[in-house]
Amino acid sequence: MDRIIRATAADGMIKMAVITARDMVQRAKEIHGCSPTACAALGRTLCAASLMGESMKEENASLTIRVNGGGPIGSVVAVSDHEGCVRGYVENPGIELPRRPDGKLNVGGAVGTDGMITVSRDLGLKEPYIGSTALVSGEIAEDLTSYLLASEQVPSACALGVLVGADRSIRAAGGFLVQLMPGADEDLIGKLEDNIFLMDQLTTVLDEDGPEAVLDQVLKGLSYHVVGQAPVCYRCPCSRERVEQALLCIEESELEEMAQENKPVSVSCQFCGNEYLFTPEELRTLRAKGEKK
Ligand code: ZN
Repeated sequence: MDRIIRATAADGMIKMAVITARDMVQRAKEIHGCSPTACAALGRTLCAASLMGESMKEENASLTIRVNGGGPIGSVVAVSDHEGCVRGYVENPGIELPRRPDGKLNVGGAVGTDGMITVSRDLGLKEPYIGSTALVSGEIAEDLTSYLLASEQVPSACALGVLVGADRSIRAAGGFLVQLMPGADEDLIGKLEDNIFLMDQLTTVLDEDGPEAVLDQVLKGLSYHVVGQAPVCYRCPCSRERVEQALLCIEESELEEMAQENKPVSVSCQFCGNEYLFTPEELRTLRAKGEKK
């Protein structure tokens, strides 16, 4: 089952969250028909959004990560609600690249490095909080670490991974985010760095031993305790009402054009592929509503 486990270590100087998300990434793959490399790029971004979103306290809060590196797969977008349930898409899910010399999927090459990673937190206030930094490698985890330090002044370590099986199904997916509290001493940082350097391949640990084993390896010798656990999943909150709202934002002339075709118009949700049908009459009614605004 997909879930996030949270822990603290070294008398609260270290906070860590680990996610296992095989089903979530498999669902994303099925919805979007992702190639293995697109799966890895989207999967890593979904895991990152879930880890960061689940820590938000506000009931209707959401967190969006956008990665736009100018590479062949285009933009990657992941949105998390405050429970860590996510949805997302990648602009060109079918693109595939040759593997890297070390045998890994070439996520950095597919995403590109000519652009930004943007994180926005919508806490239900007038304006969302938005921050962004230049991409470092397009591998997502490194980019997020650099974002957190530069934009939010939080020193952190992050790893994200998606393991695609020989049959192209997702074997394992997940990651972790470790954050250091202000005043953490050098010894602690050194110990943490050593642990992360020495740990086994992330997706292998998740696949064979589960997320608890990731905590064990990263926080080895740092006396940690688990503070919470939560199930997470792929979930899209779209509805006919939301699609109507989106249609209201379209140019009137375009809406009129759609209505003049005189056949039902199908609008599909970019996050989950759900289709919503609108008759020409319904489109005209919507148009009238829009005019009143
Ligand atoms: Zn949807």
